[in-house]
Amino acid sequence: MGSPDRDLGLANTPPLSACSDSQDVRLDEASFLSIVRAGDMCTGCGACAAITGSTLQVGLSPKGLLQVEEGRAPSDPSTDFVNTCPFVTTRSEDDLATSHLLPDSTTHYDPGVGYSRRLLVGHVRDEKARALSSSGGIATWVLQRLLATGVVDSVIHVRPSEDSAAGLHFEYAISSSSLEIADGAKTRYSPVTLARVLETVRASNSAFAVVGVPCFIKAVRLLQEKEPVFAKRIVFTVGLVCGHMKSSLFTAALASEMGLAPGELRTIDYRAKGTVGPASDYNIELTREDGGSVVRPAREMFSYDWGKGLFRYPACDVCDDVLAETADISIGDAWLAPYVANPQGTSIVALRSQQAVELLSGSGDEVCLEPVDADQIRASQAGGLRDRREGLAYRLSRRDAAHHIRPLKRVAASADIPLQRRRIYAQRMLLRAASLEMFLSAGTFDDFVSRMSPLIGEYERLYRPSAVRVRASKAKGIIRRTALRLRRRRR
Ligand SMILES: Cc1cc2nc3c(=O)[nH]c(=O)nc-3n(C[C@H](O)[C@H](O)[C@H](O)COP(=O)(O)OP(=O)(O)OC[C@H]3O[C@@H](n4cnc5c(N)ncnc54)[C@H](O)[C@@H]3O)c2cc1C
Ligand code: SF4
Ligand code: SF4
Repeated sequence: MGSPDRDLGLANTPPLSACSDSQDVRLDEASFLSIVRAGDMCTGCGACAAITGSTLQVGLSPKGLLQVEEGRAPSDPSTDFVNTCPFVTTRSEDDLATSHLLPDSTTHYDPGVGYSRRLLVGHVRDEKARALSSSGGIATWVLQRLLATGVVDSVIHVRPSEDSAAGLHFEYAISSSSLEIADGAKTRYSPVTLARVLETVRASNSAFAVVGVPCFIKAVRLLQEKEPVFAKRIVFTVGLVCGHMKSSLFTAALASEMGLAPGELRTIDYRAKGTVGPASDYNIELTREDGGSVVRPAREMFSYDWGKGLFRYPACDVCDDVLAETADISIGDAWLAPYVANPQGTSIVALRSQQAVELLSGSGDEVCLEPVDADQIRASQAGGLRDRREGLAYRLSRRDAAHHIRPLKRVAASADIPLQRRRIYAQRMLLRAASLEMFLSAGTFDDFVSRMSPLIGEYERLYRPSAVRVRASKAKGIIRRTALRLRRRRR
């Protein structure tokens, strides 16, 4: 094993100044849109639509991705789109974290985890609240505590859509009571945008907390720097650890696989907990428009295997932040022993800002949290970090070789990894793109499965030991056994 830096692929990271010395670059709307589209680097956060002077909008593409779109009139030519978009910006996560989290002697930096003051693992003590959450229930509890202690008047998080006719079952909404916050618990693997709620924030006098995946929190940080109104109104950020975001076709595929006709899905719980087995062995629970429900283990679903990345947003291919490094507090799943064994779910928590440390002080009667180190946090997100370090370095090297546009990253482009890993990353890109295309063109779910199966078969073969390695291992076994026999005879 090498040093942690090398393991995470950050050993060749360019100095920060490489990401931050060209902050005056400006792009007009047309150039901005062409860069975003050419690089396939939009997660629909909505920051570019919210910035003063912008007329841009965020809309749902045929592939079920929320993406930036032109507005009815052109934007004001002086609008600074560059340092508003988390993908086009010249600012890195480290750079933004330094400005917003104000690291001091109590702050530790880890190349996978980012800046943090304390790292914890645990859950809420209220077993009912824990059961209704995705993992340890810490995110909902943090939001409720922010409200109860008067830090915020309202929180911006993701709740079921009031109108799911457009194909999106979830949306960002504003909750101003503890009950509303509790109603919004659970992870939503569904496209969402902050565009609409940011308009409300701009027009309001309230103090807000925002929950989001890392690129959304980065977008909020950029907006806070651009416009004082957002710095004043958004007073706390809660980051969710992120593997990748899914197109709305993912939800449609799950519903289809579970026997629902198009339009028949009323609600979906992507993370329904079981009562036995590990926390990672959760269920998908759907309710139909007629009120009936269907439950299936997530691991049995064709589209679910997170490693394959079916229905993944293309922009996630060029992301290097797993743990929401710019948020005041980051929360994820404790995918590591012994915590993963508890089906009720356990959270990992990184307290990054001093405000987050103060928020949690004296909360022992409500939450049960114990300290862990950065190695444990990294181990709990090993797959995500490998994809966003080694995998990203390889994907960047392919883009660079093809002179394809890509964002500035903290990870240096490199194809210097074993051939098998290169093939795995290449096949994942293929699976991601093919799933989005083929689900749309397939007549039925079975048709989708049969079209995807050869590609999935090729991917799975990459994980099987090669014939050469099998022969080498058999040969080693024969040599070992012969040596043992000879030793015995000599005795
Ligand atoms: C797309 C996505 C990918 C993820 N990938 C990983 C991963 O690879 N590894 C990992 O450890 N954790 C991942 N998570 C986070 C994890 O699933 C849990 O959300 C997190 O552990 C918080 O659990 P909790 O029990 O504390 O939250 P809860 O108490 O259940 O509350 C969750 C809060 O998050 C809000 N929310 C739900 N979905 C979204 C969303 N899409 N955008 C913004 N806010 C939302 C809810 O409204 C609620 O307020 C991911 C989350 C998302 C949304
Ligand atoms: S990622 Fe966000 S800021 Fe960037 S183009 Fe998409 S919607 Fe706009
Ligand atoms: S993987 Fe990165 S780009 Fe994709 S949704 Fe998560 S934070 Fe955003």
